[in-house]
Amino acid sequence: MDSADKLKDGYHSFRDGYFKDSRDLFRKLAQKGQSPKTLLISCSDSRVDPTIILNTEPGDVFSVRNVGNLVPPHENDNHYHGVSSAVEYAVKVLEVENIMIMGHAHCGAIQAAIDTENDPESLGTEFVHNWVSLAQQAFSDPCCCKESIKSGNRIPVEIEQASIVNSMNNLMTFDFVKKRVEEKKLKIYGLHFDLETGDLTAFDRKTGEFGPL
Ligand SMILES: [Zn+2]
Repeated sequence: MDSADKLKDGYHSFRDGYFKDSRDLFRKLAQKGQSPKTLLISCSDSRVDPTIILNTEPGDVFSVRNVGNLVPPHENDNHYHGVSSAVEYAVKVLEVENIMIMGHAHCGAIQAAIDTENDPESLGTEFVHNWVSLAQQAFSDPCCCKESIKSGNRIPVEIEQASIVNSMNNLMTFDFVKKRVEEKKLKIYGLHFDLETGDLTAFDRKTGEFGPL
């Protein structure tokens, strides 16, 4: 079976199983629209599907997946801002109560950020190296695991976690996010998933570390 046929079979299985069993839910969502309570920003990595990990249903999360689960800081220009648009829509229109950033172990994007620290061109990409350089913000101003990162030691899991926290901080550069957080109408979470062990850990602002949920 080729890879596209596998997906076609997958769709048939979804249509005859999950969709059939959830007919009422899909009908309700179609007629009444969505009102998700959570914006979930996660990595494009094929191994880490947040809707499976968090066992969500259609309508539960407004979702963004990008290379490295990165959030850029607010930028006032006319470029095309996919992540910023999703954040704006989720916060201003959907009025979500939570924004969760989920990173993961063995993240290729974070490894690329580490690998291109001293030689941005080494990856040979047109867009990727510039995008993942967002994670390098955590090198100079690490928000967790400070000692190791400040000493120049690049331990992937620590950079993955520090980059999640950096993205959490970048969210606060959007005025409409900051305002709702200060009004206590919005909470921001940082999560890290280990696909070997299945462990999901969360950033603890008190300790500055990731720990069990
Ligand atoms: Zn990744």
